[in-house]
Amino acid sequence: MPITVEHVTHFLTAAAELIHAHRDELTSLDAAIGDADHGANLDRGFAAVIARLPTVADKDIGTVLKTTGMTIVSTVGGASGPLYGTAFVRAGMALADRHEMSAEDVVLALEAALDGIVARGKAQPGEKTMVDALVPALEALRAALAAGRSLGRAVQAAAAAAEAGAQATIPMLAMKGRASYLGERSIGHQDPGATSTAYLLRALAMTCSR
Ligand code: ADP
Ligand code: MG
Ligand code: MG
Repeated sequence: MPITVEHVTHFLTAAAELIHAHRDELTSLDAAIGDADHGANLDRGFAAVIARLPTVADKDIGTVLKTTGMTIVSTVGGASGPLYGTAFVRAGMALADRHEMSAEDVVLALEAALDGIVARGKAQPGEKTMVDALVPALEALRAALAAGRSLGRAVQAAAAAAEAGAQATIPMLAMKGRASYLGERSIGHQDPGATSTAYLLRALAMTCSR
């Protein structure tokens, strides 16, 4: 069954709902090692994305994702705004003019998103950022599809890997962003951006296993 723009809309709506429901949790994670705004930043951004969805609902998947990215850049701010914004814009560029996508296209879109985040933020795995959730998610997604799993099952594996990746940031020393200013005091706290990435993967899993 191909993925259409309706699925993308469902994913963005589920993402906005999950971020909203976990807004205070994301903000308190950021209070420990940052400036206590990550939940509020993303909730504002995804609410703006949802408000703009009706203007692009009849467009191709690439346009919806690019519009999402530009809306996030202009409303989220901080470090995560340009990073997530670039991720969605790059995913949209990878799917330009497409009205349908396959499981392989989901992999391509997530790879483009990761490439965008790394191009902008220069974070390597193990530096206590959103990259530490997205890299294991992509690995799990590729492995599950290679093993013949359905897209729904594969994206569920990716979401579980993202959540494990977010939890694995707890003992890490932050090397990027505000948390890096804390040095050793960043150890022992879960990274807010890795946690929000895990919620975005969960929203994708909810969409792909409907
Ligand atoms: P700010 O730190 O500007 O207040 P947010 O609180 O919204 O921005 O986002 C913080 C999150 O951004 C961090 O938890 C981390 O996951 C992510 N982040 C920060 N810098 C980088 C980077 N260079 N590469 C990847 N992710 C980063
Ligand atoms: Mg912050
Ligand atoms: Mg901030």
